Amino acid sequence: RRGIEKERPAADDPQLVAWQMGYALLVQCLGMALAPKLAPLFIGTMSIVFAFGGLRIELRTALLTWFVAFLGVGVVLTYPTSRSLGIVDPSRIEIVLMCISFALIALRTTLLGYYGSAMRMRLYKVNAALGRAKHDAEKLAASDPLTGALSRRAVLPIIERSVKRAAKAGVPACVAMIDLDWFKSINDRFGHLAGDQVLRRVVDGIRECMRESDVIGRYGGEEFVLLLQGASEHAGARLVERIRGAICAADWSDIGPGLKVSVSCGIAGIRPTDTLDGVLARADQALYEAKRGGRNQLRVA
Ligand code: GH3
Ligand code: MG
Ligand code: MG
Repeated sequence: RRGIEKERPAADDPQLVAWQMGYALLVQCLGMALAPKLAPLFIGTMSIVFAFGGLRIELRTALLTWFVAFLGVGVVLTYPTSRSLGIVDPSRIEIVLMCISFALIALRTTLLGYYGSAMRMRLYKVNAALGRAKHDAEKLAASDPLTGALSRRAVLPIIERSVKRAAKAGVPACVAMIDLDWFKSINDRFGHLAGDQVLRRVVDGIRECMRESDVIGRYGGEEFVLLLQGASEHAGARLVERIRGAICAADWSDIGPGLKVSVSCGIAGIRPTDTLDGVLARADQALYEAKRGGRNQLRVA
């Protein structure tokens, strides 16, 4: 990004504000040279030019413009030296014109301030919309739309934090992998929509058994990862065994006549010396053994 910005130096002042200011200030100086008696009006108008520029240019350019402009004012007003500034003994009409001019200067300054605050408000609204869009995008990326479980990318950092807490404070926690048995054949026999329904209901079933602090994520297609916070390996295994039993005993016939669903599970307690990959690999190995041992069972790493 930085490289791109460097390649576009013109973008620093795309509306040529500094040049517009220079032109406006030059006009005021010329006016002052021609009518030095009206110098206060020209100086007042110059202040508007600076207020306008201040909204859009860099501080360095603003200071440089200011310096050059008032050098110009000094030169114009002191050369030749015999000029009188301001109208001496003004007529009524001159006083009225003077008042109108100052009123216009004040009005333009006020409108400029209003323009500045409108810009700020627009920026605030755009920022707020951007924040909302970012929040929505993050939420979308964090959860699996089919089952409502956390996405893999959202759940892994949570497990990693648990691994760190186990190392630092010795807080116990377990990670369980739960994989549906023969799910491909469920899809083949009952169709993908029925398969989707099974996935949703399995997650609902797991949620019913979970405690508030536990976290479920969709690890892959029909494989889920469960983080059981504060649970010893023994307590975690009891909970996962309850989940396995409930899924196996549930009635699935409304999704497909004769449909039976079971899950194989592997669980591993997080050790103080663990890494995220380490604990996931042990839970996965335990799941593999549960599959090899005949499925519909839980193995502890
Ligand atoms: P195993 O008991 O060894 O785990 O066998 P399996 O058939 O469950 O495992 P396999 O990995 O062979 O097949 C998994 C299937 O899950 C294949 C894929 O089509 C299906 N699947 C993955 N994601 C979805 C999904 O979102 N919806 C549906 N309906 N099916 C899915
Ligand atoms: Mg499977
Ligand atoms: Mg699988």
